Amino acid sequence: MSYTPATEELIRALQALPGVGTRSAQRMALQLLERDADAATRLNEALASALQKVRKCPTCRTLTESELCGVCADEQRDAATLCVVANDADKAGIEMSGRYRGRYFVLHGVLSPIDGVGPEQLGVFDLLDQVKTHAVTEVILALDEQLEAEATVHYLTEHLKQLSVTISRLPFTHLKSGALDQADSRVIANALAAKQEIGFELD
Ligand SMILES: [Zn+2]
Repeated sequence: MSYTPATEELIRALQALPGVGTRSAQRMALQLLERDADAATRLNEALASALQKVRKCPTCRTLTESELCGVCADEQRDAATLCVVANDADKAGIEMSGRYRGRYFVLHGVLSPIDGVGPEQLGVFDLLDQVKTHAVTEVILALDEQLEAEATVHYLTEHLKQLSVTISRLPFTHLKSGALDQADSRVIANALAAKQEIGFELD
């Protein structure tokens, strides 16, 4: 079965979404074009609006519609403690626990050379700058303990240890990155309480 060029383009665009393969993208496109023009219009408008309004906080890379995100704009937050998360959803999960009063840095991914994701794409150099300019004394790596994040943890540790900061890690043995926003706040609070300092055994 072949589709019109514009439909094909829509299908390809939908396939950029995580977990959406060709079949799902075809179903979504046909649903929008054949049966639900109102939803298609709303999607179009919401996407255009979000693209125009939402940007990354210049300090921590959280998605925001303000000059600075809410956490960076809040002077009550402890600027000496920085929690590194893989994405905004993980940050939201930690915020929901109500047990963290420091600031964040959002990588928007983990190192994955095969996908072209290197330190630059993750803003690692901005992160190191933040640590230096805001006199950060502790960096908490809230990255999952699955294999995907290990290279990132190792890379960050190697660079952070040159800046004389305490580096700790949250014991998220059972949580995958991206699942923090759905995790029980108690689980996250317990993980924060059980954070473990990383020695320099990674040498
Ligand atoms: Zn921010």
